[in-house]
Amino acid sequence: MNDYVIAPPAVSSLPVAGSAQRFPVARVFCLGRNYLWGDAVAAPRTFPLFFMKPASAVVEAQARVDFPVQTEEFCPEIELVVAIGTGGADIPEHRALEHVWGYAAGLDMTRRDLQMAAKAAGQPWEAAKAFDASAPITAIVPSARIGHPAEGAVWLQVNGVERQRSDLQAQIWSVAEVVSQLSRSLRLEAGDLIMTGTPPGVDPLQPGDLITAGIEGIAQLTVRVGARPTR
Ligand code: MN
Repeated sequence: MNDYVIAPPAVSSLPVAGSAQRFPVARVFCLGRNYLWGDAVAAPRTFPLFFMKPASAVVEAQARVDFPVQTEEFCPEIELVVAIGTGGADIPEHRALEHVWGYAAGLDMTRRDLQMAAKAAGQPWEAAKAFDASAPITAIVPSARIGHPAEGAVWLQVNGVERQRSDLQAQIWSVAEVVSQLSRSLRLEAGDLIMTGTPPGVDPLQPGDLITAGIEGIAQLTVRVGARPTR
């Protein structure tokens, strides 16, 4: 027995690759621009904005991704996902990778039309980013197995046509820098995920589209976009 007045929410989790164990998800932090897009050449290197998705938005990237309500521009963004295994605040860059338990490939699913409206109005991005099932992510691959990949292709295809291709080397802020910088803004906790931003090439999906995407040396995923919701 406990004293909760309603049933406590379920713990969100992802599989651990090659294991029956699971990685429990605490919070999901997402970086804004962390690759050069065409419009940002030679800009000063300022740490990108970050936003959040609820842990409950995390789903295993498997088989299908739901088409959300309230959008005509539902867009996938392929991103390296960093899984924090040991929390900390003010983590120095040279110790940052010790806090990383593993990596995954994930999709920062976006209601782009709502994001553009929010940007234009100077409003926050939650409506565009924090909806149900908005973070399909692969199984977490332990860094004990693959180390800390600093290079490798980052790619996404829709119906076999390539939309996004870059390389982890092209990230403006490295994983160590991202962990260190975020930990200066708030205390990172074990179970936190960090989605580290997407390369250019983000475009809308249609119901029935097949997304294949991955991060070389870490994971890849295949999901089909569900039907337009009826409500
Ligand atoms: Mn993103």
